Amino acid sequence: MPASSCTVTGLALIGEEMEAEPVRITVEDGIIVSLEPFSGRPERWICPAFFNAHTHLGDTVAMDIPARGGLAELVRPPDGLKHRILASTPRADLVAGMRASIDVMLATGTMGFADFREGGAVGVAALREAAAGLPCRPVIFGRDGGEREADGIGISSVRDVEHAEALVAEARRLGRLVALHAGERDPSDVDDALSFEPDLLVHCTHATDRQLRACADADIPIAVCPRSNWVLGVAASAAHPPLQRMLDLGCRLFLGTDNVMFVQPEIPQEMAFAATVYRLPPAEILRAAVSGSALLGRSSVLEEGNFANFLVINPNKSNICFSRDPRTTIVKRIHASAIEQKVLTLK
Ligand SMILES: [Zn+2]
Repeated sequence: MPASSCTVTGLALIGEEMEAEPVRITVEDGIIVSLEPFSGRPERWICPAFFNAHTHLGDTVAMDIPARGGLAELVRPPDGLKHRILASTPRADLVAGMRASIDVMLATGTMGFADFREGGAVGVAALREAAAGLPCRPVIFGRDGGEREADGIGISSVRDVEHAEALVAEARRLGRLVALHAGERDPSDVDDALSFEPDLLVHCTHATDRQLRACADADIPIAVCPRSNWVLGVAASAAHPPLQRMLDLGCRLFLGTDNVMFVQPEIPQEMAFAATVYRLPPAEILRAAVSGSALLGRSSVLEEGNFANFLVINPNKSNICFSRDPRTTIVKRIHASAIEQKVLTLK
């Protein structure tokens, strides 16, 4: 519901700590103007809306194509399987696929996403068309000239791109964001990526402690995509990506779902996987699922003065009403069918 003014009561996950407290939230003109203690028995849960910090929505059209191979054969530009499929797909199908994936993200409580968009300026325009009119805001990282029309430049590993330095310099000159895949297969492309002082690194699946410390020191957020790493065979234990180590070293984590080709772009599934395999504290997983909205220049945390971007969950629609810890239950079990209302601000 893109409502600009409303009042909602419930057990809400408040502030950066996401502590559950019964409150009445008042929204005026899209802004949370008050969060007051609520003394009644709350019948709803209120959770900040999610942000998917790394997607490739374009490859929705290649969903679950029977294919063998690893990173290089499937997704490395310019000749990976997905790039061949994208090049041969009619534009209307491409747009319809991306829009269908945005609808899925919205249904599962996602208010925005950061996409690495292939296909140059034409590709960026296709994504803008796919997202038009939906209350799910894109941050688009273009390439092959698309960065001029986009919010930033999204560079596949520096290993795969010639003249990365000149591309980054041009993006900076245009005032655009800079994001790079790094450390997905091994640590060897992370130092070069860090040298560009990027706004976002994606993966860091095999980054070393020294590299992670550098990310923390420079406050460069890392979009991690654990399910994608497992599917592509670059992770096979909780050691990669080193999520707990990243937190211990003070890194800022965002959750992403990566290629729609083989991972469904649903943040709740990614949270449940992180909880099961990596055993991170639920508050840390939730924070990573929410805080990517910093790429939009805003916070979705439930605090007075922030834009209203939150989900109203009806636990009585399923067995989750028996939960002894709603925050943990949201991380491990939340499903689109329990999301009763979405209060999203598009400004
Ligand atoms: Zn990616």
